Amino acid sequence: MSRGGRKGTTLLDAMQQKAARPRRRVLLPLPLAGAYDYGVPEEIDPPPEPGAFVQVPLGGRETLGVVWDGEADPDLPERKLKNITGVLEVPPMTASLRRFVEWVAAYTVSPPGAVLRMAMSSPSALEPPAAKAGWRITPAGRAALAGAGRLTATRQRVLEAMTGELDDEPHLAATIAQAAGVSTGVLRGMADAGLLEPALIARAVEFPVPDLNKQGAALAEDQQVAAAAMREAVAARGFSVTLLQGVTGSGKTEVYLEAVAECLAQGRQALVLLPEIALSSQWLERFQARFGCEPALWHSELGSKRRRDTWRALAEGRVQALVGARSALFLPFPDLGLIVVDEEHETSFKQEEGVIYSARDMAVVRARLSEAACVLVSATPSLETLVNAETGRYASLNLPVRHGGATMPTVSVIDQRVTPPERGRFLSPPLVEAIREAIGRGEQAMLFLNRRGYAPLTLCRTCGHRMRCPNCTAWLVEHRIQRRLQCHHCGHAEPIPPTCPECGAEGSLTPLGPGVERVQEEASELFPDARRLVMASDTLPGPAAATEAARAIQAREVDLIIGTQIVAKGWHFPHLTLVGVVDADLGLAGGDLRAAERTVQLLHQVAGRAGRAEAPGRVLLQSWNPEHPVMQALVSGDLDGFMQAEADQRRPGHWPPFGRLAAVIVSGEDERETDTIARDLGLEAPGGEGVEVLGPAPAPLALLRGRHRRRLLLKVRRDVAVQPILREWLSRVRIPASVKVQVDVDPVSFL
Ligand code: ADP
Ligand code: ZN
Repeated sequence: MSRGGRKGTTLLDAMQQKAARPRRRVLLPLPLAGAYDYGVPEEIDPPPEPGAFVQVPLGGRETLGVVWDGEADPDLPERKLKNITGVLEVPPMTASLRRFVEWVAAYTVSPPGAVLRMAMSSPSALEPPAAKAGWRITPAGRAALAGAGRLTATRQRVLEAMTGELDDEPHLAATIAQAAGVSTGVLRGMADAGLLEPALIARAVEFPVPDLNKQGAALAEDQQVAAAAMREAVAARGFSVTLLQGVTGSGKTEVYLEAVAECLAQGRQALVLLPEIALSSQWLERFQARFGCEPALWHSELGSKRRRDTWRALAEGRVQALVGARSALFLPFPDLGLIVVDEEHETSFKQEEGVIYSARDMAVVRARLSEAACVLVSATPSLETLVNAETGRYASLNLPVRHGGATMPTVSVIDQRVTPPERGRFLSPPLVEAIREAIGRGEQAMLFLNRRGYAPLTLCRTCGHRMRCPNCTAWLVEHRIQRRLQCHHCGHAEPIPPTCPECGAEGSLTPLGPGVERVQEEASELFPDARRLVMASDTLPGPAAATEAARAIQAREVDLIIGTQIVAKGWHFPHLTLVGVVDADLGLAGGDLRAAERTVQLLHQVAGRAGRAEAPGRVLLQSWNPEHPVMQALVSGDLDGFMQAEADQRRPGHWPPFGRLAAVIVSGEDERETDTIARDLGLEAPGGEGVEVLGPAPAPLALLRGRHRRRLLLKVRRDVAVQPILREWLSRVRIPASVKVQVDVDPVSFL
């Protein structure tokens, strides 16, 4: 490990250099400033090329890294150079992935090693696959099977099973014995007789190959046009970005699966990014129906063995199609031909921890560096993407109607000022009536409230004390089923106290406001006979539970669904005809830049669950503010007009996408120290034409997981690049190890 050791160069060093070992730059998956130089010992011949995964010593231990491009420092004295200790037997990291790592690092102002780490997220995949001892048939065994020698019936069965059902490959004794219905002792006997011999079984796990001969659905005319355009973009084998916009139920998925088919036919790999992969059982079924097998998966709930097998198979080109969460962007695709970003407007594509990046934007970059097509899919595209489509940077395809003659649901507002719910209730009389009617007709209804738990706030009626998290600037949320108060930011939980911790009054703590559990309680009183199902991330832990819920709904075993935003995720519920939004104003409260845009996107997506070909749908929005442009847009269905108005609001002040933002978040356990650093950054703030810094100010979450947080916001005109300004700015303030400074380029969250 040595960097820039120019000072120590002596004549002796220079002479030694002549007979010097080859040198390589090696990037390590650690948040270091850059690559380190290493020597290549004689035993490693030929010396590894850029992209090779290598083992190197670092501070007294061995670590893995990647040989990086560029010349090692020739002035570094030979004696300071440590040796690469091994080259791993895996396909090297492709040049396009190396450029991607560099690009993401530069864009997000992160150390390249921190980004490399995301591309090496399955280190055990780099180890050689463990070979196991098994058996295969000898030439003598084959001859015997062909009738050249006498075989007992058992031995005959073994050889037949091995050449038939076991594909004539080496297998474990136990596998063979089971397939042939014999004991493993029989195999040993056969080995002694020269019919079998030991053989190694590679551990490689096979991934199913999508069947390209299968036909997709017969497409309607506008679907055909869109599919053909995307097939063409993929077949061009070059970079392109296409926005596929279409109302919910217009067949966007059906259509982009055609682009996937084209990509696979081209012999290139396809990647589909979904916002909630763990909730995507219905999507997987559709892939299966289209291609006859499941795609490979990549998400955080994948077990480590599956991760390793997938990573390795993908690197070796044995996986054709993969569907994953945002981290799948960093996988070692040897020849990526297509990236689809479904529900491209979803904020969950933004990674908020570690290297803060937008998977949607980085998908475009990865596609460019891979000469691949990128397709962004949404019923309600982000303003960023719409503007790119309007200015012609992205191609644009539109599916304006629902498939199969289904109509869009009718949306109306229930004015809470005119027909409010009863005291202590949350469902207004018109909504209750509509649910009763829908269920009475044997249809399904859904209540949507984007809030987990029973009540978002617990208040003492005697002294007004509010129960708050000790580690965060947040109220504790009551979860009545678990009988606990929980913080949704840090996971802190405590039992509901019998008395007020402030004034000691007994039985005085009262829940304020609704969460889904409370709506479920109210529904159980109003519709006692209805079969109800709560869908929230804590009531449906994990993919299996979500799959089962979707099945029960499709099988009409449920009358009323009560859910948080997870119900919005692209589900197809053919018997659902009524959606009631309990609090349509909820998302507008925070008032950040995109609050209105996000509320429209979310509510439109929720509304899209209602009504398919079989039955028209109806959506009721409970609101205290029916005149709000968000409600008006949802009622009229004029989302284009709404986005136009959004654009008109943001353009004059150079707000995104008409200007650029970068947030700097300062956090530390010590409040004064955190304030000092934030103030220093404020004092050193860059300025000049088209450059502005807002703050420092306490973050809305001024305390998070016990850390104090201050925010600064850099705002520049669109033609100004933020990264050089950020780098220069941050270099001017010395930041102690106890304080963390995070950079968030293109922030989505302002908390
Ligand atoms: P979106 O992704 O736009 O919401 P989907 O692709 O999920 O739309 O399509 C909605 C429903 O319509 C799905 O059940 C899908 O299978 C069906 N569908 C769409 N297009 C066709 C088609 N051409 N033929 C048959 N079914 C279709
Ligand atoms: Zn907390």
